[in-house]
Amino acid sequence: MIIVMNDPSKEEIDRIVDKLRQHGLEGNCLQSNGKTVITGIGNATTTDVGFYERMPGVEKVISIVTPFKLASREFRQEDTVVKAGNAVFGGNVLGVIAGPCAIESYEQLRETAVAVKAAGACMLRGGAYKPRTSPYSFQGLEQEGLKILHAVSEEVGIPVVSEVTDPRNVELMSDYVDMLQIGTRNMQNFALLKEVAKSDKPILLKRGLSSTIEEWLMAAEYIMVGGNENIVLCERGIRTFETYTRNTLDLNAVAVLKHLSHLPVIVDPSHGTGHWRMINPMSKASLGAGADGLIIEVHPCPEEAVSDGQQSLTPGNFGQLMQELKMMAVAMGRSL
Ligand code: PEP
Ligand code: MN
Repeated sequence: MIIVMNDPSKEEIDRIVDKLRQHGLEGNCLQSNGKTVITGIGNATTTDVGFYERMPGVEKVISIVTPFKLASREFRQEDTVVKAGNAVFGGNVLGVIAGPCAIESYEQLRETAVAVKAAGACMLRGGAYKPRTSPYSFQGLEQEGLKILHAVSEEVGIPVVSEVTDPRNVELMSDYVDMLQIGTRNMQNFALLKEVAKSDKPILLKRGLSSTIEEWLMAAEYIMVGGNENIVLCERGIRTFETYTRNTLDLNAVAVLKHLSHLPVIVDPSHGTGHWRMINPMSKASLGAGADGLIIEVHPCPEEAVSDGQQSLTPGNFGQLMQELKMMAVAMGRSL
C-alpha cells in the first residue's frame, strides 16, 4: 500500500510508521514531487487501507493489495492440479469435458458418453437441474437425470460433472457426480458457494455473465476460505453490446487468470459463442491463450436437443475437433 501525505508534520509521519509496524508492515518514507509518500510493505488487507485513509495528514492511500488471497499466485506460486475421478485439470495435462447441455434420456446420454470418451474427453457433462431464462423451458430431469448420469458414468467408465443450482441439493448431488458445477447465474449465490465449500467434491466455477475477473476470483475465494480448494475456473463468455454471438468469449480472462491465480482455467466455447460452427476455432484460440482445458456441448442429434442444440457439436464434429486439438497440444508441449 502507498500512503500519500500532504505537508504532514513529523508527528503525523511517525504515527503512520508506528501504526504500520503494529500491523506487521514495514513503513518507508520518501519525498516525491513535494509530497511525502510512505510505502507499507507486507501482508496488508483492504481493511488496513480504509484505516490509513482516515489518519491525520493522509491525502490518499493507493492499494496494491489484491482482495483475493487463497486464489492468488502470491499465496501459491505453482499451478494447482485438480483431480475429479480420474480426470485431471491443470499442470501439463489438458482436460476436455463434453456432453449434452441437458440429460434427456439414458440412451441419449450413453450414446454421447461412448462417443466423447472414444474421442478423448476426460469427463462427461450433463445438466439435471437447468437454470433456464424462461420458466416455460425444459427445467431438467432433476433427480431422475442424476440417476441416469451416474449409471452412464459407471457403464461407460467416465467421470461426470453436473450443475448444482440450490444449496439444498449439494449433498444429494454429491452421491451422483464427481464434480459440482456452479453456473454463470449462480456465481454470486453466496449461500450456494458456502455450501459447496463444505463439499469434498471439486468445483467447476463458471464466470458470472456480467462479472469482473476480480468478482469471479472473490467467488472462488468464498469456496476456498470455506475449506474447498479444488476449484477449476471456467470462462463462458460475458455480456457485451455484441449480439451476433450469444456471449463474448473473453479470452483475455484466461491470460489474466493464469497470471493472477494458481487455479486451473478452462473455457466453454459453446455458451461463449452460441454457434456450433464457432466451437472449433474458439477451442483452438482458448488453448492458444493458455487454457487448461475445455467444456463443450455435444449431442447425438443436435437438431432434436431440448436445449442448446444450435451450439452443440455432433459426435463426428467433436471427434474431428479433438484430433486437431491433440496436434495443437503436442506443438505446445502439453498432453491431451
Ligand atoms: C451449462 O453449462 O449447462 C450452463 C447452463 O452454462 P452457463 O451457466 O455458463 O450458462
Ligand atoms: Mn447449455
